Amino acid sequence: MAEVHDGGDVAAAMELIAEEIRACTKCDLAKMRTRAVPGDGPVDAEILFIGEAPGFNEDRQGRPFIGPAGKLLDDLLDSIGMDRSMVFVTNVVKCRPPGNRDPLPNETSTCTGAYLQRQIDLVNPRLVVTLGRFSMERYFPGGKISQIHGQAKRADGRIYLAMFHPAAALRQPQWMEYLKADMLKIPALLDEARAMTPPEPDEPEPEQLSLF
Ligand code: URA
Repeated sequence: MAEVHDGGDVAAAMELIAEEIRACTKCDLAKMRTRAVPGDGPVDAEILFIGEAPGFNEDRQGRPFIGPAGKLLDDLLDSIGMDRSMVFVTNVVKCRPPGNRDPLPNETSTCTGAYLQRQIDLVNPRLVVTLGRFSMERYFPGGKISQIHGQAKRADGRIYLAMFHPAAALRQPQWMEYLKADMLKIPALLDEARAMTPPEPDEPEPEQLSLF
């Protein structure tokens, strides 16, 4: 966690990843984006949220969850006495799929392999919250979100919690109560995760920092 990191080095390493993402041409989404959306939040956050992909507003501004789904995420955080300054928020894929279509398997695997896991390793959160089925699939493979949402999995010295995507709850109001109820599980899960032996932090490679 943060106390065993040098916070400045971790922030610098995260910014290098963000710069790589903004310049990325690893898949065809790069040709269609306005801006890539690396993610936002403190590098020593205890909670890391993973959404699906940037939407229209995020593509314009280069920041995650700033449209209606982001407003709902803010309200959900408020319901547990938290706000965006306390959490790291990113997505499975960092560029907007055209027309907000689902990310393709090659886009997901390329982007997570290149960036998402490195971001998680740097933040080294106590709790990872998946928003929607694309991020859920990474930690709860093969299940249906209607059955898996609200479940917590303990692995790698941290806890993973699956939740519906806020945009899905805006489209399907019957899911809103589940989303709100699952959010209320976070404080107790965070307390539990704090008592676990944390995963070893990923120290930024000095040679990686000196490349830029
Ligand atoms: N939906 C997502 O999954 N991510 C965003 O950043 C915005 C909307």
